[in-house]
Amino acid sequence: MANLRTRRGALALYAVLLVLPTVALGLLQWRHIEQEHADEIASVPRDAEDAARRFRSALGEQLEALLAAEGQRGVEQYANYYCPDSTPQGEVTLLPTQLRSEPRPAGVLGWFTFDLNAARTDGAQVFLGAPSSAAERDAAHESALLAASLELYERVRSESWLGASSPVDLDAAKLELPVRAIAASRAAQGDEDCIEAERMLLGQPVRMVAGQFRLHFYRDAKGEPHLIAHRRVRVDAIPYLVGATNCLHRVSEGLGLVQGLFIDLDWYARELTRGVAQRVLTKRERLIESHEESCASCAPHHADLRPIGDFDIDCEPQDADWGRMQIAIDTSEMDARYSSRLWRFGGVAVMLLAALSTGVALVWRSVEQELEQAARTENFVAAVTHELRTPLSSIKLHAEMLLEGWTTDPEKQQEYYRRIVRETERLSTMVERVLEKAKLASTSAKPTPLDLTELVDAHVQQLLNWRVTEAPDLEFELAEDLPQVWLTKEALHSILVNLVENARKYAAVDHRKPNAECIVIATLRRPDGVALEVRDRGPGVPAAQKQRIFDAFYRLGSESTRTTRGTGLGLHLVSLQAASVGAKVLVEDRPGGGSIFRVTFKPAQTS
Ligand code: ADP
Repeated sequence: MANLRTRRGALALYAVLLVLPTVALGLLQWRHIEQEHADEIASVPRDAEDAARRFRSALGEQLEALLAAEGQRGVEQYANYYCPDSTPQGEVTLLPTQLRSEPRPAGVLGWFTFDLNAARTDGAQVFLGAPSSAAERDAAHESALLAASLELYERVRSESWLGASSPVDLDAAKLELPVRAIAASRAAQGDEDCIEAERMLLGQPVRMVAGQFRLHFYRDAKGEPHLIAHRRVRVDAIPYLVGATNCLHRVSEGLGLVQGLFIDLDWYARELTRGVAQRVLTKRERLIESHEESCASCAPHHADLRPIGDFDIDCEPQDADWGRMQIAIDTSEMDARYSSRLWRFGGVAVMLLAALSTGVALVWRSVEQELEQAARTENFVAAVTHELRTPLSSIKLHAEMLLEGWTTDPEKQQEYYRRIVRETERLSTMVERVLEKAKLASTSAKPTPLDLTELVDAHVQQLLNWRVTEAPDLEFELAEDLPQVWLTKEALHSILVNLVENARKYAAVDHRKPNAECIVIATLRRPDGVALEVRDRGPGVPAAQKQRIFDAFYRLGSESTRTTRGTGLGLHLVSLQAASVGAKVLVEDRPGGGSIFRVTFKPAQTS
């Protein structure tokens, strides 16, 4: 026993040592997962700003590439030509720039050129919008370009907008312009006669200096936004025009052109930015355009992108925000990963804890069972010792007294003899029970169909005679016409005697009490068979013990608290006997107090 208790203590210690570190490690791991997730979320603003930086630099490169390609065009490609010979009457015709028939790069709406000198003096202009495909050359498109160009022209008059830019590195041929092209600007102002006078000069080359393209964002009179790239082109030197007729000379003195292109803002703020986003943004980085709703699965922090304000584009301060977009970080994947890690971890932790606690519980249970078995054996040995010793000493004492002639009173002598007989009976009952248990374990009963009431009825007299009180303490409620049940006489005898003996022992009828009730022995029909019931008004059996009292050597309480004598074998024998004939035994609380011990036998014929 002591050894077992030490094992129980060791097991408890082992369980604590095993479970505590496991729980501690689990908590640490849990915190680690939470910390990692919190770090990921905390890095979102930085990641969004990084993505915005990448995006801006890629968009800037695209713009630079567009301007670099345009900047390589020769200045003559933008120019008009004066062509006095093109009509039979010698009327002046302006030949359009070559760009009219060139395929436009993506994002370019059209090209234009201005004579700055003409614009400064009397408002005359040279202008060419240039949509290239026939489909685009519709009236609405062309008039929109024209309106934009007029607006542009107005700005040129104020000049504040033009700014200066460093010259581009173009080869000489691309910088040459024939006088014919310069003359075109005068022709538009009605100087045809003057030009006619100098026609021999029209084929002469003029060297120009071209500046770099610069970007401008501006709004026209209607408030419509436009994005243009323009460059200044001025005359380098025209020595042979010195002394020429007035009109061409004026040109040579002040000639300056503004050349440029209209950039499609829709293309810039949608197509180009989307293309860039596809290239430089990762799967979780989202571009949210100005017209789009904010993304629901994204973290609250967004990085700003301004397609105008973020670049070297001249604009009014209030326009810097035009087309503002945002870059957001979609955290749904992080959240999903976080919760799946938590679930996986939770699953493993639960499985581990379940395995640990099941193992500990199993070992604990087996130790408990061993302890219980040991307690029962101890109980049994104590009970048997007590049960054997008490009657033996009593028999010995009374036999010696009779032998030594301690009393000559015949009544007293009779009393001693009766005591000796009673104690001998107790001894033999005890031995019989042990033998009965051993017998039941080794042989199997052969039940036959029998009448339960008849068999109980046959025991009535014997049970009434065999009592401890003078007044009758048993009542019988025996039902008639019960169906026969599978039974053996020995089984019924053992069951009945044990149950009645227990009732008398643990629920003895005290006739001194006013409403004392007798122990009831009943036979009755029940839904599941035919039952024998022994009902008493004793202390009852606690719910937790209702099953266990049928175990061998199990007794309620402990040796020190018990006032009754017994071996813990009576009810065990009842349950063994019941099982041997296929019957079921149970104890339940009796309404009004006490217990009902019920054995339900199987009917021999199913009706
Ligand atoms: P024993 O009577 O030798 O102790 P049993 O196997 O007959 O052994 O009974 C087991 C235990 O069940 C008893 O120790 C007693 O505590 C309890 N018991 C049996 N019958 C009754 C009863 N009618 N009322 C209350 N307790 C009972």
